[in-house]
Amino acid sequence: MGKGDVSVPYIVIDEERCKGCGLCVAACAKKAIEMAKVINRQGYFYARQTNRDLCSGCRLCAVACPDVGIQVFGKKKREVP
Ligand code: SF4
Ligand code: SF4
Repeated sequence: MGKGDVSVPYIVIDEERCKGCGLCVAACAKKAIEMAKVINRQGYFYARQTNRDLCSGCRLCAVACPDVGIQVFGKKKREVP
């Protein structure tokens, strides 16, 4: 599956909407999100995706974000136990 495969889950973070609370980082068990070391135009250290391949598409980050700053695309990956 390549990057263009729509079934591969990935997220898009609205970096300018982000207020840097870190809830999405805490919510992501895959460590697919981190806080940037630079600030956005609002003056917050914003969240950004670390590695698209890590994302399982679970959507917990989007649910956790109080500013509705994260969108999740693609199908959730089946977790292999
Ligand atoms: S959808 Fe799930 S795995 Fe992907 S970045 Fe969000 S919390 Fe992490
Ligand atoms: S939960 Fe939303 S506002 Fe908080 S750091 Fe993540 S993207 Fe930013």
